Amino acid sequence: MSRVIIRGACPVVSKSFIKAWIHGTIAILAFHGYYLEEEIVVRILPPSHKQWLPTAACPGGAVGYWVPWDRQVLLQSGRKPEHMAITILHELIHALVGPFPHVMVDGELVKTEEKITSTLTARLKAPINDMAHSLMSGSQQRAAFMAHAKIAYRNKQAEDWYDPDQWTPIGIVDPKSKKPRLFPKGLLRGKK
Ligand SMILES: [Zn+2]
Repeated sequence: MSRVIIRGACPVVSKSFIKAWIHGTIAILAFHGYYLEEEIVVRILPPSHKQWLPTAACPGGAVGYWVPWDRQVLLQSGRKPEHMAITILHELIHALVGPFPHVMVDGELVKTEEKITSTLTARLKAPINDMAHSLMSGSQQRAAFMAHAKIAYRNKQAEDWYDPDQWTPIGIVDPKSKKPRLFPKGLLRGKK
């Protein structure tokens, strides 16, 4: 997975929340085959920034942009968590799933980029909310584990060894698990 660089801060929403929504969205999109193949920069800009002024394409003024030629996602700061989360998801769908080709309506070619992106945002926001919560919970403890890796966890014996704790079961299950086959399919063919 490519790197995401986050620049700027938001007075209302924590950096951890923004990171969790970015990486939760990227993970879910990647699971379904839409990958972040190159580094992107996410820039958080204040509401006063000229970027948010109304334009011909966006007369009401925008709160987020995907800028493909710069590989940048722009987000307006000062927004409530729900608005920030939805904007992150919407812009990352533009970046990783779009662009969507024009469609024919009554014999005319029309754009469908925002319709598809916003409908997909509506469908995906609940599962990505669950992912973002998982990423945020316990994040300080995980950061400590990783910070300790090269110091506290290193081998102090003459030979390298495997920590048996690695295999201590914690109750991991596969809800889609298949029954193990005793024989390969080919061997059973023809048997009654
Ligand atoms: Zn859009």
